[in-house]
Amino acid sequence: MINKLVEQILIYPRPWILTGAGISTESGIPDFRSSGGLWEKVDPIENFSTWALYNNPKGFFTHGLPLFQQVLAADPNDGHIIVGELQEKGFLGPVITQNVDSLHQKGGAAWVYEIHGHLRTASCMDCPQSVTMEELFTIINQGEIPPRCECGGMLKPDVILFGDSMPNDFQDAIRLIRTLNPMDNMIIVIGSSLTVSPINLFPYEFKKLAILNNSSTALDNNAEIIIRGTAGNIMQNIKQRLIALNKGETLKSLPAGFIPGRLAGMVLDIEGSMADKKASIKAEELDRLAADLILLETLYKNYPHINTRQPIERYMLHHSLEKIQALKSKYSFESDYSSTGYIPRSLNDIIESYFDALQSYIRQYNCQAEIAGEIALQILGLIGLYRFLGDLGIQTFDYSYTRGLPDKIQQIANRLNFKLDMEKATGDF
Ligand code: NAD
Repeated sequence: MINKLVEQILIYPRPWILTGAGISTESGIPDFRSSGGLWEKVDPIENFSTWALYNNPKGFFTHGLPLFQQVLAADPNDGHIIVGELQEKGFLGPVITQNVDSLHQKGGAAWVYEIHGHLRTASCMDCPQSVTMEELFTIINQGEIPPRCECGGMLKPDVILFGDSMPNDFQDAIRLIRTLNPMDNMIIVIGSSLTVSPINLFPYEFKKLAILNNSSTALDNNAEIIIRGTAGNIMQNIKQRLIALNKGETLKSLPAGFIPGRLAGMVLDIEGSMADKKASIKAEELDRLAADLILLETLYKNYPHINTRQPIERYMLHHSLEKIQALKSKYSFESDYSSTGYIPRSLNDIIESYFDALQSYIRQYNCQAEIAGEIALQILGLIGLYRFLGDLGIQTFDYSYTRGLPDKIQQIANRLNFKLDMEKATGDF
C-alpha cells in the first residue's frame, strides 16, 4: 500500500494533507477518542465549550491550564517533520489541521490552515487586545482566574471551542480548494477519526482519498487507500520509498509545474472513458487521443535537462512514457498525427483556474505573500510546460491567454513584495 500511495502522490501532484489529534499522540499529546484519550478523563462540553467558558470559567481554566502547558511544551515527531520536509520540497501541498498545537509549523510546514485555531495567543473577548499564552499563564499563576485583559474583558485562548463558529483559516482553505478544483487532486488524512464535522466534509472536495490511521475511521469506505499504523512510522515508510525511487539520493525539491504523471493520468482517463464506449468511439476522438499520446511521448523523451534531473523525476518520466507507449501500441497509432488533442485545452484550463485562485487569494485580507508566491510559481511552471509542449510543434497551442500572465504575476509579486525568480520558475523548460 505504501508503494501505491507514493505512486499516487507523484501522479496527483502536491496532495493536500488533513491531520487530526492522532498525528500528535507520538509527541505526547493525548487525542480525544482513542481509549485512554482525553474524552475519557474530561467531559468536553462541561469543560471545553463556550458554555463552560461563560458559565464555569474557573473550571475551564483550571482543567485547561495543564493541558495548554503540555501542548505548548511538545516537540514535533517524525509525522510532522516528514510532512514539513515533503511540503517544503514540493511533494505535498497545504496542510489542514484540526490540531491546536502548532506542531506542523514546528515541524517545518509553512503552509498550514488551522481550522480549530491555535494555542499561541489568547484574545480579549471585549476588545482587540491579544496576549501570548506565556503572558496568559503569568496572569493565571498570579491567581487571576478567569484571566482578564486591561479593559476587564475575559482573555480566551485562540482555539475553537464547541459552540464557536469556524475561523478564517477554514473559509480560506475551502475557497482555495474549490478554485483549484480542476486539478482533481488528492487528500491524505493522517490521524483523524473523521467524526467531527465540518472537517470530515473536506475529503468530498477531492477526487482521491487516502487515510493513514491506527484504527478505523468514519470515511474508510470512501478511501481508495487505507494504511493502518502509527503516523510517524507510516510517514517514515513513505519517505524511505521516495528515497528508494530516488536511488538512495537525498530528495531535492520538485520543480514547480512538474506534472508528467498527471498528464499521463489525464490521457489514461480519456482513454478509459473511450474504452467504456467501445464500438461507438468516433474517428475524430481517436485522432485527438493519438495526437495527445504522441505529444506526451515526445515530451517525456525530450524533457529538459533529462540527464541532470534527480532520479525520482527520471523515474516518473520513464514510468509515464511506458504507459503512453502501451496505449499507442494498443491503438496502433503512428507518429504523424496533426490533430489537436485534449491537452492544450486542459492545460489552459488548469493555468486559468490557478490564476483565478491566485487573484482570489490575494484579495483575502490575511493573505500571506509566501503562499501567493507558491501559487505564482506553480502557474509559471505550468506556463513553461505549456510553451514547451507548443514548441514541439505537434499540436496547435493557443498562447493568447498565457502570453500576458507572467507580467501580471510579476506585478502581483511587486505589489505584495514577494520575490519571484522568473528565470527559475519557467527556466526549467
Ligand atoms: P480524534 O481523537 O477523534 O481521532 C484521532 C484518531 O487518530 C483516532 O482514530 C486514533 O485511533 C488515531 N490515532 C491516535 N494516535 C495515532 C497515531 N500515533 N498514529 C495514527 N493514528 C493515531 O481526533 P480528531 O479527529 O482530530 O478530533 C479531535 C478534536 O480535538 C480535533 O478537532 C482537535 O481540534 C482537538 N484536539 C486537538 C489536539 C491537538 O492539538 N494535538 C489533541 C486533542 C484534541
